[in-house]
Amino acid sequence: MADSDKKRQLVVIGGGPGGYAAAFLAADLGIKVTLIDARINPGGVCLYVGCIPSKALLHLAKVINEAAEAKNWGITFPKPKINIDKVRAWKESVVSTMTGGLGQLSKRRNIEYIHGKAFFENATTLTVTHNNGKTETVTFEHAIIATGSEPVMIPSLALDSPRVLDSTTALDLENIPKSMLIVGGGYIGLEIGTVYAALGTNISVVEMTSGLLPGADRDLVAVLRKRVESTFDSVMLNTMVKGIKEQKNGIKVIFDGADVEKKERVYEKILVSVGRRPISGGFGMENTKVEIDKKGFIKVDAQRRTREPTIYAVGDVAGEPMLAHKASHEGRLSAEAIAGHKVAYGPHAIPAVVFTDPEIAWCGLTESEAKQQERPVEIAKFPWSASGRATAMGLREGLTKLVIDPRTQRILGVGIAGSGAGEMIAEGVLAVEMASLVSDVELSIHPHPTLSETIMEAASVYFGTSTHIYRPKRK
Ligand code: FAD
Repeated sequence: MADSDKKRQLVVIGGGPGGYAAAFLAADLGIKVTLIDARINPGGVCLYVGCIPSKALLHLAKVINEAAEAKNWGITFPKPKINIDKVRAWKESVVSTMTGGLGQLSKRRNIEYIHGKAFFENATTLTVTHNNGKTETVTFEHAIIATGSEPVMIPSLALDSPRVLDSTTALDLENIPKSMLIVGGGYIGLEIGTVYAALGTNISVVEMTSGLLPGADRDLVAVLRKRVESTFDSVMLNTMVKGIKEQKNGIKVIFDGADVEKKERVYEKILVSVGRRPISGGFGMENTKVEIDKKGFIKVDAQRRTREPTIYAVGDVAGEPMLAHKASHEGRLSAEAIAGHKVAYGPHAIPAVVFTDPEIAWCGLTESEAKQQERPVEIAKFPWSASGRATAMGLREGLTKLVIDPRTQRILGVGIAGSGAGEMIAEGVLAVEMASLVSDVELSIHPHPTLSETIMEAASVYFGTSTHIYRPKRK
């Protein structure tokens, strides 16, 4: 039987963290899997142009920043010499190591990997256009759509110029510009800004709302803001970019906003980082019963099944938050659902991490969400200035907070601002998912001296009995 005549058991469209996690688990569960993506190996946005290359570069930024900070403790290093070609090559080697590994894992599981683009003809048939231009008809019992997302470009900023970057071209690291404007104060822009600032670029950020990282609790953002103001050239809040114009020496940007001092400035490059949108169009959804909401996300149920019973959707294309760990969780869940397991999506705590310097991380209910929902909560905060480990590492500005249900003393959310927050938040996720009480965390012995103790101490703060700060509980 020719390949085109055989009905595939499961076809996964898109090889990012949602798609490859789904494909790998489905294969482990005994399902015959076909994975379709144009890239040579699985990995998607996350591994090729997102999480992994950005973190490789953020690691370099951390090394540079820590070396500079050491002068406060009596050690002076010479100004770093940056060989941008080697930096780029190192980042690319990280990407190829990880994606090559995924390719091997896919082969070991006997997954059929098709290099191409899929288009739905109906609820059980795809036309796949291979990278070499040839087309193939693929029929299937089940499909999982994991087509991900792409950067949003504001039409007025969409200049066809190498000076105007999105996150993908910014991570290409073509050169180290003298100056760069980051349009949008979200996590992707701030992370890339942190990289370029460490490499020597004068970074400015423009954000139309009144604060960086809209959505995150302000006390956590305040820790980052202080640092950003000392390492970035300027942060313009409540400010919009009205227009841009390319000129010989750079891009002229015209700002609009009551707070902005200089209405026109010239930057060597600008990075437009104003959000991402799901890729739910252009591949035949209209030929199926799959429904798409107003924001472009594919509508799914608790098993991540679409309105078309044969088709599932996971990851960025299936709703917020658009994060890799949410994508892979959903991918694995949909594979289990297809294998006939009784599973349902219902996390209480999807962690969010901003890998800036310092990091910010939170999970579960935030204080701002509680306020919006008019839900009564108690907040317990432990400042890192009282932590021995933080002081020994020069990190006295950090903060750890718990969001607590006053009726049950259950931990509903955790927020951390400071170095290593992204690693530590996993304890918060476990606490929220396990419905831990504040006393559970307080009574769990944490290793000393570590930053993780700040979570235990925040629990003690709730009872007014923290060892390292004196803050009796108000009666
Ligand atoms: P994607 O990773 O977007 O993969 C989708 C794949 O589907 C792509 O390979 C695409 O080419 C393919 N595809 C699309 N249409 C078709 C079609 N018709 N046929 C075949 N294939 C198709 N998230 C985190 O959790 N942590 C981070 O630190 C983090 N950092 C990030 C940094 C940056 C700069 C960016 C841009 C994103 C970052 N993200 C991060 C977000 C993360 O990358 C996404 O949430 C994640 O990649 C979503 O996974 P996915 O499987 O849904 O889709």
